[in-house]
Amino acid sequence: MLNGKRALVTGSTSGIGLGIARALAAKGASVMLNGFGDAAEIEALRAGLAKEFGVTVLYNGADLSKSDGAGDLVRDAEARLGGVDILVNNAGIQHVSKVEDFPLERWDAVIAINLTSVFQAIRAAMPGMKARGWGRIINVASAHGLVASVDKSAYVASKHGVLGLTKVVGLETAELDITCNAICPGWVLTPLVQKQIDARAAAQGVSVEQAGRDLLSEKQPSKKFTTPEQLGDLAVFLCSGAAANMTGTSLTMDGGWTAQ
Ligand code: NAD
Repeated sequence: MLNGKRALVTGSTSGIGLGIARALAAKGASVMLNGFGDAAEIEALRAGLAKEFGVTVLYNGADLSKSDGAGDLVRDAEARLGGVDILVNNAGIQHVSKVEDFPLERWDAVIAINLTSVFQAIRAAMPGMKARGWGRIINVASAHGLVASVDKSAYVASKHGVLGLTKVVGLETAELDITCNAICPGWVLTPLVQKQIDARAAAQGVSVEQAGRDLLSEKQPSKKFTTPEQLGDLAVFLCSGAAANMTGTSLTMDGGWTAQ
């Protein structure tokens, strides 16, 4: 279904980004991976995906907190993959702190990676998509793009910002065969969330398993984690013909979190 398409997935060395990169590769897209991690592990991941799905898989470890790191990443993907038809802005970080204690440096880092890099990547990828007359932009926002939680001022602000940006880009490209949509996951058991579960277990003196159950039951009525595989399938749907007239919108996959 995606044979011949070229996808760039930011933050795809683990978690949700990796799930989405796998799903796109499984449908025949060539993929550029991005993100941090152990060099040998990333190379094994890259080579493994290429072999499993018979597609080109490249890697660029650009740091998206750097000034126009995302733009440089897009330009490298265009040069080495031949273009970016599918852009998945997924890289993201979290910092948890009361607003009065929130370090400005952490605020800046969260906004830079979660929001500014999304703008920079879209800005860099748009001319190529327009020239080719086709593009799919998928921004991984969060349930926190729609509702808030305490202690996550920068994260919630950044994800609400991503939904606003998604709407603008959807409107600017509405008459073209380019769509821009956001995905809003609830809890997904990835390293980003495992850190929060571990911190919660330590703070409350309960087991990690109990802390994971508490985390789910507080927000996610299904009491089940959304999986990277489910989010990968949603990304594939957004690239399909069925979603060609969906743009500027957000799709939740949050076990009922934002229905409350
Ligand atoms: P993760 O920590 O497993 O993965 C994050 C990825 O981003 C990794 O590949 C990491 O190396 C990369 N990354 C981090 N900082 C980077 C930087 N400066 N430059 C380049 N890459 C960088 O996290 P995840 O849970 O898979 O999160 C992925 C996205 O999903 C994030 O945008 C996050 O906000 C969002 N999200 C996650 C959840 C959840 O429950 N896990 C829920 C809603 C939304």
